[in-house]
Amino acid sequence: MKTIIFLLLIVMVSVMLMGATAEVTVSIISPSGDVVEVTPETTHAYDDETMQDSAYNAAAAQSITPSALGVGLAGQENSYWVTPMDIRDEAAVWAMLMAPITVVDIDQKLQVQLRREPSDDSEAVADVTGTSQGVHVLETLDNGWSLVEVYSSSFHDSKVKAWNQLTQGYIKTSLLKTREVGNRQYGMVVDKLTQRLYIFKEGKLFAELLISTGLPNERQPYNETRSGEFLLVSAVGQFRSDNMLSNYAFRFNFGDLIHEVPHVLNADGGANYKYTEPKLGERASHGCIRVQRLRNPDGINMRWIWNELYKGIAQNPVKFVIWEDVMGRQIPLPDADTPLYYNANGGQNYHSAPSCYGVRDEFLPMTQFTYAQLEDSEHKSLTPCPYCAPVRRESEIEAINALHRPE
Ligand SMILES: [Zn+2]
Repeated sequence: MKTIIFLLLIVMVSVMLMGATAEVTVSIISPSGDVVEVTPETTHAYDDETMQDSAYNAAAAQSITPSALGVGLAGQENSYWVTPMDIRDEAAVWAMLMAPITVVDIDQKLQVQLRREPSDDSEAVADVTGTSQGVHVLETLDNGWSLVEVYSSSFHDSKVKAWNQLTQGYIKTSLLKTREVGNRQYGMVVDKLTQRLYIFKEGKLFAELLISTGLPNERQPYNETRSGEFLLVSAVGQFRSDNMLSNYAFRFNFGDLIHEVPHVLNADGGANYKYTEPKLGERASHGCIRVQRLRNPDGINMRWIWNELYKGIAQNPVKFVIWEDVMGRQIPLPDADTPLYYNANGGQNYHSAPSCYGVRDEFLPMTQFTYAQLEDSEHKSLTPCPYCAPVRRESEIEAINALHRPE
């Protein structure tokens, strides 16, 4: 039986590798009007026959779990691997964010390689980061090894070069440790499909912020942010990369941090965000997760997150989950009566709330309308506010969904 499973794994890994060489790049127009090159995921196979139906099924799109993309074995109850990637199901997402996580018990700046067979001499098939990266335990063998599944955390200098590939492999069971999530108040979800960060507080979706995850290209495939479940394990603070400075950084996966959108310094010493901030809401980084600096209507931004979480994070890490934008996933359309707002005295943006830090007090509160009216002549030219992250226009959602719709 083990031999059969193993042969199956080899076939699956081969299919994944073949898929990786057949990438297609597609250009779409971003909300800011830029043409963005997007490489759709082509490397995931589906066991679930409903996903292969030519008639596309919206309910199926909301029920895809990370483990359905792998060998399909169930993981621990409520774990990342068995929870559907649907942000609207607050109870399921919260249960996932509070569920225990199995990590590799080595330093947070060290990695270990998964092996194709349960032996130190066997070929390395994936990189896994210590302390912070969760692994999906598929089988614990009685020879001291476990079969696990992860999105490989290969960085630019990796010898394995399995860039964010969902991969199965063997690791010594003695290296694994299952731990409770220390912070019971907050948890966070990053969704590559929507390019948003979702902050959960005490069981409820508390804030939604604009982000940029990694933008890979042919030369730098390692720019893709590695998906999976993680812990925010340390507060890094400010750091410099080339000529850019980034504030309020937390580490969640070795070289991958979450931090404020980077800035350069003007000649007068002032911070300049104009090269990076307009790209929030789409892929743009080298792998880190950039979060908006501008305050949402509740005053939430990356600085707020830092102030709320940095104390005690090493002792009580926060669960931090990244959803892959796999083929088959779709962004649901907002309800037609979703309220939106604009400043009827010449405002350029549409907003998600009646008051917004992007609008001067004299224009508050703003005029309400509905999502169904967003395409009316009066609202057609409004652009989304960068402070309050309103829902996307239907045409923009459709452009993203079309790239992720199965044939
Ligand atoms: Zn706004």
